[in-house]
Amino acid sequence: MREPQSISTPDDTRLIPVWSIVLAIASFVLVEYYFWLVLPDQQHHSPPLGFRVYFNLSWGMLASLYFLMIGYVSKDAPRRAMSSRFWMVICFVMPAGIGAVLYFLLRQPEVSRCPACSTHVQSDFHFCPQCDYRLTANCGNCYRTVRATDQFCTRCGHELAGDHMPARLRVMSD
Ligand SMILES: [Zn+2]
Ligand SMILES: [Zn+2]
Repeated sequence: MREPQSISTPDDTRLIPVWSIVLAIASFVLVEYYFWLVLPDQQHHSPPLGFRVYFNLSWGMLASLYFLMIGYVSKDAPRRAMSSRFWMVICFVMPAGIGAVLYFLLRQPEVSRCPACSTHVQSDFHFCPQCDYRLTANCGNCYRTVRATDQFCTRCGHELAGDHMPARLRVMSD
């Protein structure tokens, strides 16, 4: 009996790319620089220090969040077969994070590719619509989803070991 291997997801687990982290840090530093060193010279009377710390740090954090968000969208959109460039621009130009809100409202379910024919398939598909490849482990008798480690179907008692390889373990073997 084959031991189930750890299901590895090779396609980027890192959802925030390095460039957006770098940009986030840079923007935080820039904002702090502006608010602490440039702006006070232009003001006649500065507000109390506590208020300034709070205000300046908030703006700095907001600026870096902005870039982290764009980085996230750039990674998340392709997983859903959405245009990352289009949504990065939307997030960039819309003020006050409205672009990100729109993105989360409108984003599509995650898609992956069929291992056999590379057609885009959604995460809830059991079979590939193009080549009939079994994408999830399911019972060869009632076709309900089973865990790849199950010996028998929990719904109909069908012995899964008797199924063809694709029914149970092909999901694991890729
Ligand atoms: Zn296919
Ligand atoms: Zn069954």
